[in-house]
Amino acid sequence: MKAAPFDYQAARSVDEAVALLDEHGASAKVLAGGQSLLLDLHYRRLRPALLVDVNGVEELAGHGVGDGRLVLGALVRHAELERPVVEDPVGALLARIAPYVAHPPIRARGTFAGSIAWAHPAAEWCAAAVALDAEIGLHGPSGTRVVGAADWFRGPHSTGRTAQELVTEVRLPLLGAGTGIGFTEHRRTHGSFALAAAVAAVRVAEGRVVWARIAMANAGPVPVRAASAERVLAGQPVASCDEAVGEAGTMAAHEADPRPEPHCSVEYRRHVLAVLVRRALRQALDSAGDQATRPPAEKG
Ligand SMILES: Cc1cc2nc3c(=O)[nH]c(=O)nc-3n(C[C@H](O)[C@H](O)[C@H](O)COP(=O)(O)OP(=O)(O)OC[C@H]3O[C@@H](n4cnc5c(N)ncnc54)[C@H](O)[C@@H]3O)c2cc1C
Repeated sequence: MKAAPFDYQAARSVDEAVALLDEHGASAKVLAGGQSLLLDLHYRRLRPALLVDVNGVEELAGHGVGDGRLVLGALVRHAELERPVVEDPVGALLARIAPYVAHPPIRARGTFAGSIAWAHPAAEWCAAAVALDAEIGLHGPSGTRVVGAADWFRGPHSTGRTAQELVTEVRLPLLGAGTGIGFTEHRRTHGSFALAAAVAAVRVAEGRVVWARIAMANAGPVPVRAASAERVLAGQPVASCDEAVGEAGTMAAHEADPRPEPHCSVEYRRHVLAVLVRRALRQALDSAGDQATRPPAEKG
């Protein structure tokens, strides 16, 4: 099928894009990488009257560090994150996740912020945003505002953004030395959306877990933060926390609100989530840089 007819405007500045969104409201759609929007148009799930192309808006390009945060402009493509963009565990976490987002051609064009705006329950970046308490920067007709990831995701493809607002940047907190990161995903075929995925970050100091951050993709209508699983790990000695990691996986799966699909029952998805959370946590603990307190891995 082909898209229904629409008008097209290429904005040259944030102000110009916001003025167009203000004028046209819900009948306009922002065009970023187009990797999800164009499918929605061609399947006629969406019939916007106007596409506001922001690809020429220089203010939205690039990334930087400021005020303890990595700031990703709205035009940062998935592929830009395949290598660490900052010397902090958050850069390593993004680089660990990036290869799981779709295929290389889609990663070359699709944007991090576009994924956050599109809010697919299975999207890896959305789970990472929730795990890290990301802040979503918006520019609208009455100025700028910031929405925390916990308040951003309202449901599948539903967010805290109004139709008149443009996502201008996403800010992720730097995680700091002593923080390990982990990510695991289960998918049916290479490049397909995650059947389930888990993101973890763990701060270790003096041989103990100081804090843990855990979030899951495709664990419900929105990315799910596993707060009670995080509490299980806090204070645990790293050298002997296998039981706590196991329990955290079980608790995270209980915190999930999985939906059934023809090839994936609720019970199966819960089981997969528990396993993925445990694996992501083990990765995070292993990369936390406090290896001296962990017993050597068994050989053979
Ligand atoms: C075959 C295929 C496989 C894929 N696999 C995965 C996968 O495994 N994991 C995954 O996470 N994603 C996957 N995707 C989606 C891909 O990651 C998209 O690139 C991403 O979801 C949207 O980013 P985009 O820049 O292309 O946004 P677009 O497609 O341009 O826009 C998506 C939506 O967000 C809105 N939007 C975009 N940017 C802004 C902004 N700055 N301000 C306000 N609204 C905005 C648009 O109006 C639109 O509604 C896949 C896509 C395809 C086609």
